[in-house]
Amino acid sequence: MKYVYFFGNGRADGTGEMKDLLGGKGAGLAEMTRIGLPVPAGFTITTEACDYFFKRDRKYPSTLKREVEKSLARLERLVGKKLGDAKDPLLVSVRSGSARSMPGMMETILNLGLNEKSVKALAEKTRDDRFAYDAYRRFVQMYSSVVIGLPKDELEAKLRAVKTRLGVKDDTQVSADGWRELVKEYKKYFRGETGKDFPEDPQEQLWGAIGAVFESWMAEKAVTYRRVEKITGLLGTAVNVVQMVFGNRGENSGTGVCFTRDPSTGEKVFYGDFLINAQGEDVVAGIRTPMHLSEMARIMPKVYKQLEDARRKLEKHYRDMQDMEFTVEDGKLYMLQTRVGKRSPGATFEIAVDMANEKLITREEAIERIKAEDVERLFYPVIAASVQRNALASRKLATGINAVPGAAVGKAVFTAHEAEEWAARGERVILVRRETSPEDVGGMFVAQGILTATGGKTSHAAVVARGWGKCCVVGCEALDIDYAAKKMHANGRVITEGDWLTLDGNEGTVYSGEVPLARPEPPLACSTLMKWADSIRRLGVRTNADTPHDARKAREMGAEGIGLCRTEHMFFKDFEKPERSVERQLAIQEMIVADDVEARRKALAKLLPFQRRDFIGIFEAMDGLPVTIRLIDPPLHEFVPHDPEQQKELAKKIGVDVSTIARRVEQLREANPMLGHRGCRLVITYPEILEMQVRAIIEAAIDCQKRGLKVIPEIMHPLTMDKKELQILDQATRRIADKIISKSKVKLHYLVGTMIELPRAALLADEIAEVAEFFSFGTNDLTQTVMGLSRDDAGRFLPDYVDEKKAAIFKADPFQTLDAAGVGMLIEWAIARGRATRPHLEVGICGEHGGDADSVKFCHRVGMDYVSASPFRIPIARLAAAQAVIESNASGRKRATKKHARAKRG
Ligand code: PEP
Ligand code: MG
Repeated sequence: MKYVYFFGNGRADGTGEMKDLLGGKGAGLAEMTRIGLPVPAGFTITTEACDYFFKRDRKYPSTLKREVEKSLARLERLVGKKLGDAKDPLLVSVRSGSARSMPGMMETILNLGLNEKSVKALAEKTRDDRFAYDAYRRFVQMYSSVVIGLPKDELEAKLRAVKTRLGVKDDTQVSADGWRELVKEYKKYFRGETGKDFPEDPQEQLWGAIGAVFESWMAEKAVTYRRVEKITGLLGTAVNVVQMVFGNRGENSGTGVCFTRDPSTGEKVFYGDFLINAQGEDVVAGIRTPMHLSEMARIMPKVYKQLEDARRKLEKHYRDMQDMEFTVEDGKLYMLQTRVGKRSPGATFEIAVDMANEKLITREEAIERIKAEDVERLFYPVIAASVQRNALASRKLATGINAVPGAAVGKAVFTAHEAEEWAARGERVILVRRETSPEDVGGMFVAQGILTATGGKTSHAAVVARGWGKCCVVGCEALDIDYAAKKMHANGRVITEGDWLTLDGNEGTVYSGEVPLARPEPPLACSTLMKWADSIRRLGVRTNADTPHDARKAREMGAEGIGLCRTEHMFFKDFEKPERSVERQLAIQEMIVADDVEARRKALAKLLPFQRRDFIGIFEAMDGLPVTIRLIDPPLHEFVPHDPEQQKELAKKIGVDVSTIARRVEQLREANPMLGHRGCRLVITYPEILEMQVRAIIEAAIDCQKRGLKVIPEIMHPLTMDKKELQILDQATRRIADKIISKSKVKLHYLVGTMIELPRAALLADEIAEVAEFFSFGTNDLTQTVMGLSRDDAGRFLPDYVDEKKAAIFKADPFQTLDAAGVGMLIEWAIARGRATRPHLEVGICGEHGGDADSVKFCHRVGMDYVSASPFRIPIARLAAAQAVIESNASGRKRATKKHARAKRG
């Protein structure tokens, strides 16, 4: 097995493709050498050697020594110098470099090869005593701490002491004698601590450094970093032994870092910093202020031109924005590193679109380069970049589940009612609840952000907040909320009503205090890229929207219809005329506590105009696009107050005895409400609710049609489990709708269909499709019922099922990313059976998965017609739908090539 790969003088054993084996840095150096860029020569010891080292109790492969010797000899021949030579010494750097970037986590040793003899030679050769001894002291310092493990603080203290003795402040003011003195001090200290002399033999130095770089792969900080960043499956680190070049050789030298385009804006400008007469660490340390590249162009025009050439060459070669490190030694440029540059979400779009326009990449590649997180981070407010991370950490109260991204700041309030009151006074609030229910939507609507102690990503709070693009953290178990005292305790701290809170919905973190936020501005490139995605995708993208306001927002984001309008929220909040919310709240509560059909009808008649007006608003906003409206779904107990005080208030308002209300609430109590009297079961029991809702939908549609607005209502029954059940509902729906339509003399086409949310419905999809004109997979409930996991409570333990350190049973939370293996199997079955009965059955998804990129790709693969996502996730769905087409074309091509190869082989 080959463990060492050489590069230099335009030739390299490795290539840029060999990142896993050579690490990112090694692969980059090899590739840059191959394409003719000026790279100092050297060699890379592979990650396989590192893997061997740890698997064999820290032994090197038997052939490694020989390979390193040969490569070193080749390097010495190439540069005409010898490591540790007393006349003209070669110095090398020994650097780590794994396949995935782990900034600052692993070790580096510079100026290796210096000893008492070679340092003198270096001084003579460069005619710079100070430079040589500065290099030597840096080497002794690094070697002592990195290879031997002597404490950095002690070494730094000795450096400070020398400066004090010399009466100088900066390292640059220390004379050659000062450095000589420090080297002596270090060596004395080394002997005292280790009982040995500091190694003079360059071979011993080299192997010490190689071992230390390998060891740094397993250092605690590196292991932790990989765990946090979820970096798995790597063999280890490579070791790069490279000829040293010096940026600190005077005014004609320097070192810099640059990006081929601006990483913050994406603009096609050469972007970077350069420090004259400095080494790499000086740029990173940020002690001196570097100059911009334009300045460098002025003072070193020749070198700058070379650098520009490298920039063009590298970008063309890698077909992506690069982040490069370089050094100028005495007027000569050396490229030390290149890698794909990290960039802001806005720049991600800008660069992808520009590169496609420049024909550097295809439009498909541009689309593939955008990740769901890039889209999310473009549309939601975030904690301002200027906020110091340490200051933030000290404010941390607790961590929960990151249900909706973004960030929010407001004063803590503990009831929806108070949220509305405070907001009406112009206060910004964060609504903190143990959990939320439809009753709370008013308060949730006015809050900046929502925080709950329980629940997962499909809990009521999460679903509703997502619809509004409102920051939401759920399942924050550390919160101990005392509603009566209007307080909460979190990890030993107390937050009282009115105290400032900041939520970070990206991380799921809760901070005390008012942390400054920033709202990113989506660049023009974003809409260009979305248009490209739209021209490729096959899946339709609709939205989950309950109000005209959300519907309008969703259209702005590119929705092509509504896939789910949950009508129950209209019972609680008048989103267009908030001051009239109470009227509808009372009507629904009156309907629920009603003792007989007549009383129920009376209450429903009060609700009818509200619902009709809401539907008109939604139809107007969707202007001719399909609108899927779901009839009432949640268990009725969610609509009535449980608190005795509030029950008293309600009794007074609707003119009944408080005991009637208390009795009714008690009657509605269920041990398992999610599996109880909910969904279409409610209208089987109370057909008058269906009657009122269908009437409101159809009358609203007719009203719009009469005004020349096209309307396509799709009436949807939730939680169906049987064909006969759906037949009853379908007939009732059509009876009412057709009667109103024929009376109005308006032509109106509507569909009646069902949600598939239960395993039985999926299994018997062929029968159900005899009645249903469309299926919409309610994957929140379907996941809950297939997996037997409560969507509201599973947040307590599901993280362990996903956590790599713990059980790692699932790759992702199944309430967030569709469980393709289990729930997905049932969906595929249901689509096939449904379409066997009704070939043109319209099929969509309206669970939260409709806005999750991986799940959208699944929906494409199984042949759905559309996905439906909350307004702010529509761009993610549009993009993922296009990526799904690109991926399936690519895998089709791969299959065809394989088939062709097989056929050729005969
Ligand atoms: C579902 O169950 O997936 C769904 C969309 O309905 P809800 O979340 O309202 O139960
Ligand atoms: Mg449901």
